[in-house]
Amino acid sequence: MKDENFCPLCGKEKGHFIKGLCEECFLKKHKLVEIPETISFEQCRTCGKTRLFGKMVVPTEEKLSLIVKKKVKVKDLENEAVDVKVSQASKGVFSAKVLVKGTIDDVSLFFEETVLLEPEFVQCDPCMRLSSQYHEAIIQLRSKDSDKKKLKELLPKLIDFVEAMHSKDSLAAVIDVSEKREGFDLKVGSKKAAQNAVRQMKAKFNAETKSSSVLNGVDKSGNEKYRFTFLVRV
Ligand SMILES: [Zn+2]
Ligand SMILES: [Zn+2]
Repeated sequence: MKDENFCPLCGKEKGHFIKGLCEECFLKKHKLVEIPETISFEQCRTCGKTRLFGKMVVPTEEKLSLIVKKKVKVKDLENEAVDVKVSQASKGVFSAKVLVKGTIDDVSLFFEETVLLEPEFVQCDPCMRLSSQYHEAIIQLRSKDSDKKKLKELLPKLIDFVEAMHSKDSLAAVIDVSEKREGFDLKVGSKKAAQNAVRQMKAKFNAETKSSSVLNGVDKSGNEKYRFTFLVRV
């Protein structure tokens, strides 16, 4: 016959026993799972992205789950499984349901907690650079037949092409548009985004394109930096 269980702390004889104590007393004495009530995450007040493993990314429920998962601490549980479900109560307001499962002394345990996610507003590096007029490229939008009206129609499309890449490239933004007699000049944060947008103008609106570059200083690691100018004629 199996030894009779007896909890030395509360006298209980029935139920699950873990390392000589009843489950209840054991869990009171041992914190197996630590789930914070609130978890803050860095969020850029300008672009809304959040920092994940050192990178700024668009905060999706999936990505925020990874942030929460990192903050859940589990001790001494075997076969542990942590499941996090982030949901959005209203725009930008997130909470997470954390479920932790595992076993100890052959007793299955289950913990559940709701965590509030609190944005901690910062300004990310690319946004800081863009706000001080950082731009790697200039796009000159020009008309083949001095049709300014056509340029005005195409301008928002060109801006969309540049900014469509913003979720992947934080510098993919038009920071300034100036109207010239012959057309529009756009300052673009990211050279790659500018290049892509120009390619789209070529494919979709049959634009003629030309590019040139000038040396524009040296970066921290001593590499020469260029500013690119793309001429787009439609
Ligand atoms: Zn007990
Ligand atoms: Zn930002």
